[in-house]
Amino acid sequence: MSRRTEFIPYKPKTILNKHKRADHWFWTRYTAYPYKGCQHGCQFCYCREQKFSPFDDPNDFAYTIHVKENAPQLLRKAIARAKTDLIFMGDYQPAEKKFRLSRQMLAVCLERNFPVFILERSPLILRDLDLLTEINTKAVAATAFSIISTPDSVHYERIRQMEHLAPPPEKRFKAMEQLALAGIQTGACMMPLLPELCDTDENLESIIKWTADHGGSFVLASGLTLSDQQRAYFFNVLAERFPDILPAYEKYYPAGKSYGAADGSWRRTALKIRELCEKHGIKDRMPRPIIPGDKRAKNKGIVEIFANKVYRMELERAPKNKIWVYRKAAWAIEDMEQDISLFYRMMGQKGLEKIPEIGENLAKEVEGLLTEVV
Ligand code: SF4
Repeated sequence: MSRRTEFIPYKPKTILNKHKRADHWFWTRYTAYPYKGCQHGCQFCYCREQKFSPFDDPNDFAYTIHVKENAPQLLRKAIARAKTDLIFMGDYQPAEKKFRLSRQMLAVCLERNFPVFILERSPLILRDLDLLTEINTKAVAATAFSIISTPDSVHYERIRQMEHLAPPPEKRFKAMEQLALAGIQTGACMMPLLPELCDTDENLESIIKWTADHGGSFVLASGLTLSDQQRAYFFNVLAERFPDILPAYEKYYPAGKSYGAADGSWRRTALKIRELCEKHGIKDRMPRPIIPGDKRAKNKGIVEIFANKVYRMELERAPKNKIWVYRKAAWAIEDMEQDISLFYRMMGQKGLEKIPEIGENLAKEVEGLLTEVV
């Protein structure tokens, strides 16, 4: 018998989480989510881990949804005081049909011209295409779909069993196409790439090809994380339904460690993704959205170049100290309050060397990039 969903409305004190600086994957500076718990109930979901989850029993995660009923009002107050930057938001699980909080939060962002990024497993996002299109003309609306297999994948049926409450990937790709046709940046996030199931070359190519064919401009990928109660929960799923791959997971995810996928295998996968993205004409990094009127647009463009360089150097096994030079430089430029091109016009190349973490060589590199970025 299927279990009923319980909704628990409550009024949190805050909704907007502010991070020190934008991350180098989705370029988001803020996060704001309207629900805790997810009716899609993907069995591999890290949100069941204790640090994210209000649930003692991980089985409740998909059936007890905590609804932040004052989310739009809190967001309105919070962004009135916040610097304009990308907010990671939206949640289009079935609860959204009833409570419409993601829609109301988008309306708040539209009022204040705030840019948004949404990562989804549901085509319900298309219900709000009107708001997304309007936000995209005034600020930025960027999107991505979590997709870890296609109907062409050898292990499609098995993977679907692990996310059977979420709409099928075919519907997500159709939604991707609609968003791309509306001029909204979109792509696929292969998150998580489940070992033994999703990381085969044919599955990677299939997702990348489907993404390119449906107007997506990028594919991001990351491995599976398994900690504390989520590790135990997922191992039970494997033991009951896929015992043949359980030994491999026990090897990749030994007890007491959060991340199990070996560096070597991840590097191989990431390089393959890069090669396949090039073949199909899309990127293996999400392009950083340009926010209209952003006086720090040049800073952000240079940060994007440096962050992508860090990623490439990691894949190419560059020396760690060289990688850190670019990572710290990216952080320092992100942290600048001023427009870096104005700073350069006033102070010249020597002035660039006054930016923390920027020495003479990097200052020359930044100088060259100033004309390259938008
Ligand atoms: S849709 Fe996302 S948040 Fe919801 S259960 Fe699946 S992985 Fe977790």
